[in-house]
Amino acid sequence: MNSPAGIQPVIEDDAKYLVELEHVEKHFGNLHVLKDINLKVKKGEVLVIVGPSGSGKSTMCRTINRLETIDSGVIRIDGQALPQEGKQLAQLRAEVGMVFQSFNLFANKTILDNVTLAPIKVRGMDKMAAEREAMDLLARVGVDSQAEKMPSQLSGGQQQRVAIARALAMHPKVMLFDEPTSALDPEMVNEVLDVMVELAKEGMTMLCVTHEMGFARKAADRIVFMADGQILEEGTPDEFFEHPKTERAKDFLSKIL
Ligand code: ADP
Ligand code: MG
Repeated sequence: MNSPAGIQPVIEDDAKYLVELEHVEKHFGNLHVLKDINLKVKKGEVLVIVGPSGSGKSTMCRTINRLETIDSGVIRIDGQALPQEGKQLAQLRAEVGMVFQSFNLFANKTILDNVTLAPIKVRGMDKMAAEREAMDLLARVGVDSQAEKMPSQLSGGQQQRVAIARALAMHPKVMLFDEPTSALDPEMVNEVLDVMVELAKEGMTMLCVTHEMGFARKAADRIVFMADGQILEEGTPDEFFEHPKTERAKDFLSKIL
């Protein structure tokens, strides 16, 4: 690097984070659900967020693509602060794909239409091109043979894989997964986790809330442990699972493992 000292390092340092939360606070009425959340996610990093129910994991995910507002603090996507509203907000939200526990497919649209809808409407993509790409994505998650069916004709695991394909169709820079396998029958959990592991291997930047500790060990670069609206621990899977530091984490692990 031969640019003037003191300028470039700062810019580079900021640019390598795709998601940044700084001093994020959130209340629901009197309930303080996010307490001074600070989190930085690098490009290509896979973060797994764990913690007891009610600790604010879903709320944190929802603030990142602005399904929830925050009271104070800053959230940046690829270096750009999420504004309160407007066109720029819509653009930044499109950079963040989200997959929920409940698959949330449009029930009255075919699988193919579920995947092409946003690229056509929001990205202004040509229908043919959108369909071609959608078929590629559906093939990637192993449900291309179901393209003409309605969501209700698919199993839960298939629907969730469609939900992943639908999110990917917007070419997000980051994917958020909020307990994507919690509503599935046990025999379908792995078919969804396998798709997530593949995405992780391909370099997708991911934030995953999950209780699937096997997935966390296999795919996570970093584990974030939340309790009572705070991030209490952060570390590699080895650090977290083998050497949890706080009593809360030890207690949580003793119940889940
Ligand atoms: P987690 O995903 O870790 O289980 P959540 O983020 O869903 O936690 O919830 C954190 C806390 O905020 C819980 O006490 C929950 O009841 C509360 N909460 C979540 N969403 C709302 C809402 N829309 N209105 C009021 N309270 C909420
Ligand atoms: Mg939740």
